[in-house]
Amino acid sequence: MTKDLENLINLIFMSSASSFLLSGNSISQPEKIALHVAQSFLCKDTKKNNLFCNNCHSCNLFSANSHPDIKVIERSKDRTQIQIKQIREASDFIYSTPLIANKKIVLILRADKLNFFAQDTLLKSLEEPPENLKFILTTSLPYRLKPTVLSRLTHYKLNPEMHRLNRDSNNDGFIDINENDYPEECWNKEEVMRLFDNLVSLKGREIINYLIKDKDKDNLLIKLNWLSKIIEESILIHFTETLSDTPFAQLSKEIKNTLDTHTLICLYDEILPVINSLQTNENLNYDFQTAAISY
Ligand SMILES: [Zn+2]
Repeated sequence: MTKDLENLINLIFMSSASSFLLSGNSISQPEKIALHVAQSFLCKDTKKNNLFCNNCHSCNLFSANSHPDIKVIERSKDRTQIQIKQIREASDFIYSTPLIANKKIVLILRADKLNFFAQDTLLKSLEEPPENLKFILTTSLPYRLKPTVLSRLTHYKLNPEMHRLNRDSNNDGFIDINENDYPEECWNKEEVMRLFDNLVSLKGREIINYLIKDKDKDNLLIKLNWLSKIIEESILIHFTETLSDTPFAQLSKEIKNTLDTHTLICLYDEILPVINSLQTNENLNYDFQTAAISY
């Protein structure tokens, strides 16, 4: 384990937040790191830097996969997503008191597999977590989580150069951590610039109609999310030249050179209500949802 990772685990341990998201690629192995964090929370005799001792009763149960104070939720092998039922079934656990440790852990592995309804159910627990409970979620695709869920999580991005369990694991698969946070389609600069060209030539309702050509709700929301991020950064960059460590800094500079703030703000104003509508009226169909948005 690297020193940086040890410090990160200690930071999470000391944090007063109740819900965490660890995101990272296959080199960082967020799932394995999350298990280390979970074991540290449950350990009865933590060592320096609050790392688990691997020796106490609690650690022994943890190693034997039989600790009663941790609930692991992951996609079952015969399903493509984590089902709402799995979150509902965890509620007895969530609202009970710890049996052995001082805390209870709900660990959700590859949380990007939570379907939208499961995310909504989870959101209720994230909003009012019981005192002794810690939620730990892992993912390599954080953009797949709804912004409402993300807003409830303290998000730690694992840096494969710094946060590694094993120094020797090979580094061939290095992926830029920012790029890993958003889908591939938003990194195709020419395509995105073309999309912006098309969008700004449209007005009001036409913009949304253009964007909802693709009627897959999950994908539409993902697309609107990254699109709104790019617009936000492009607006911001009009006011500051020093934007450099944000995911879309490079792209935003180019967009800033072709579009003025007024155009960008108008576009943003069209997209934002649709994002909100998609998030709150999920059971409605698209046509109804978009018709319900007033212009
Ligand atoms: Zn221990």
